[in-house]
This record gives sequence, C-alpha cells and structure tokens, in this order.
Amino acid sequence: MQPSPDVLSRLSSDIDRDAGKVQDFFVRMLRINAVNPRMGGPGEIDRANFIQSFLEGEGFDVSRVDAPDSGYKRGVRPNICTRLEGADKRKTLWFLAHMDTVPEGSAELWNSDPFEPKIEGGKIFARGAEDNGQSLVSSLFALRELKSLGERLPFNVGAWFVADEECGSNYGVKYLLEHFSFSAGDLIVVPDAGSPKGTDIEIAEKNLLWFKVTTRGKQVHASLPAKGKNAHRLGMKLALALDESLHRQYPRRNDLFDDPSSTFEPTKVDPNVPNVNTIPGVDAFYFDCRVLPEYSLDSVLSDINASLRDFTSQYGADVSLEIIQRDDAGPATSPTSEIARLVEKAISRVTKKQSQFVGIGGQTVGNLFRKKGIPTAVWSTVDEVGHEPNEYSRIANLISDTKVFAAVPLLADSQ
Ligand SMILES: [Zn+2]
Repeated sequence: MQPSPDVLSRLSSDIDRDAGKVQDFFVRMLRINAVNPRMGGPGEIDRANFIQSFLEGEGFDVSRVDAPDSGYKRGVRPNICTRLEGADKRKTLWFLAHMDTVPEGSAELWNSDPFEPKIEGGKIFARGAEDNGQSLVSSLFALRELKSLGERLPFNVGAWFVADEECGSNYGVKYLLEHFSFSAGDLIVVPDAGSPKGTDIEIAEKNLLWFKVTTRGKQVHASLPAKGKNAHRLGMKLALALDESLHRQYPRRNDLFDDPSSTFEPTKVDPNVPNVNTIPGVDAFYFDCRVLPEYSLDSVLSDINASLRDFTSQYGADVSLEIIQRDDAGPATSPTSEIARLVEKAISRVTKKQSQFVGIGGQTVGNLFRKKGIPTAVWSTVDEVGHEPNEYSRIANLISDTKVFAAVPLLADSQ
C-alpha cells in the first residue's frame, strides 16, 4: 500500500511548521566545537551529549557505544543511536551521519567565527555546517517528525551519529561494524556526499590507494654530480614512468563515475635537501590513485612492484614502496536495490526531481557497509563546500532533505 498523498503532505507541512526548531537545534549544535581530536580538536563528546539530551527530551531511547581511544585525553569516542520501531522488527533503515569535523583552517579566510554560526542569505555559515551537520540534523528531525506523525512504519527507522569519520572511522563506523550487529537486510543511507541539485544518488565508490616511493642514491656536492647518484632525478624518472604505465595498464572507463577513468596522480613530495647546491641522496614522492571498482588493488600493486623491479635493474637504483592508505571498494549497490529505489522515489515525490545514480572517486563510510554486503545509498543536497573556509548549509536544503529522509520509509512497498 502506498501512503496517501495526504500523509506526505501532512509530513511536509509538519516539517515546514517546525523549520524554526530545526534551525535552532542546528545553530546550537554547531556552536559546540567537535573538531576531530586526531586533528587537534576537542573531539565529539560535548556535541554527542548535546544531541543525546535533545533526543531524550523528545522521548527517544538513546543507546551509546563509546569506543575506547587511549590516544585521546577523554578516553572514549562517542557513537549514539536511536530507533523507531516498525512492523518488521528484523530490519532497520539507518541514517548514518558523523559528528566530528575538520579544523577551521586559517582564521583569516573566514568572514565570521567558524564556531558562532552566522545566518545570512538563507545560509548558515559555520565549520561543519555542511560536513556533516546538515545531514545529521536532517536525519534527526526526520525521525522526530516520523515519531510525531504516528503513521505505521514498515520496518524500524533509526539513526547513528558517529565519531571519527574525518580521520579514518577507526572509533566510529569501523568500531561499530565490529561491535554492533547490522543485519544484511538493513537499509543504509549515508548522507555524507551529494550535489547542489540533490539529484545524484551515489551507489559506487572507487578503490583508493595512496603510496609512497623512496629512491636512494648518494648525496654529494652539486658541482661534482658524477661522484654521487641523484636520488631526485631517479625519483622524477620513476614517478613519470609509473604515471605512464598505470594509465596504460588500467584504461577502462565507467560512465557511472564523474571522472569515468581510474586516476593515478603524483601529488606530494617530501623535502629532500634544504639547499640548492647539494645532490639529494634520498628522495620520496607520493601517488593518489582512485581505481575503478572493476579492477582490484592487488593487481595495481603487483604492477607497481613490477615497474619498480624494472626500474631497479635498469638504473641500479635502490627504491622502496610504502602503502600509506588502502581502501578497497566494496561492490556497487544495485540501482534496483530496495534502498536505491526508495531514495529515488522519495526525492521524486518530495522535490519533483528526477535523480540519477552515480559513482564517486571520494570515499564515504558507505563503502564500509557495501564491503559487508549491505546495500547503501549516499545522498544529500549540498553545494560541496565542506572543509572550505566559510563552509555553509542552505536552510532550504536542510528542510527539504529532512522531508526526503522522512518520506523514505513511508514509500516502502510493504506499507
Ligand atoms: Zn563528511
């Protein structure tokens, strides 16, 4: 049974009526600095306590999973969850947003205090307003509105507000996936990437590989290069050789993705010598690789190792490889999966927009669920200003996304 248009329009007018409350909660939450402690911030605990007491004040039961973190002075990293019960109690639609933010960066680039939200021109400016504050608040209020709407839900609907997304999710989603049982039938929405029109539903992510290559030669005075071996020249040659061979070996395109190819980009170099007139004896460069999910990182790494061996035998160079970060892509979520179809339908019913399924080169925690075999849709309406100075959230998106999230369970076929 589909909900009568009446239910969706009642939901929509309830949310419009409560827009002031949504905004007020958002502003108060953004005032609580939750910069990731691994990035020098105070962490998520104060923000988590604020969210928890708000939810409890609204009559929600809140569970808390504190991940021990011995490297943090307050000892634990909070993850909180709440859930409304539906007809099928074995299955839950989870909205998953993160509480931590990146630091504000250079203060002089901000036009206002990043921790004192400024409202101007329909936008709320603050660190974390877009990433991931807007979606946290939209998910939270979607639950609140569903609760007060009182319609029968086809399955449970819940939200997780997690720690540590900005720094690898070791104390957030990765910890939860070990200590909390999500079930394979659960439906996951990760509203932590999106597009300004709100029409891109992300269902696939690329493999991510960051690696470092160090070349070692012999450091000498730059006026007598023949006495030494220039590690920087070796590094440059090798970086270009890898750039060429990786692009040649992984040529496939996949039009689901915005950059439809696998990307292999030389990025950072380590400082070698501090002065111009010394030939470097050690040199290091880094690559950022985003590889289409149809390829495996095992094969990319074995090709990189083969190139290094060739280079070593050709130049007699001493080279070594270090993996800085590796995140293998989980299987893409099918566009015909229940969660993909529900999100598409909710967007169309609430905003009247036709959406499209996409893949991205970035990675969200959605990939961690996909690797566990749980279909996951990543969606939100954002201008993509996260991590920037003067980060903001559009209030219209905040409210509209709340309506879309709340509509998702109401559109399920089992209703
Ligand atoms: Zn984020």
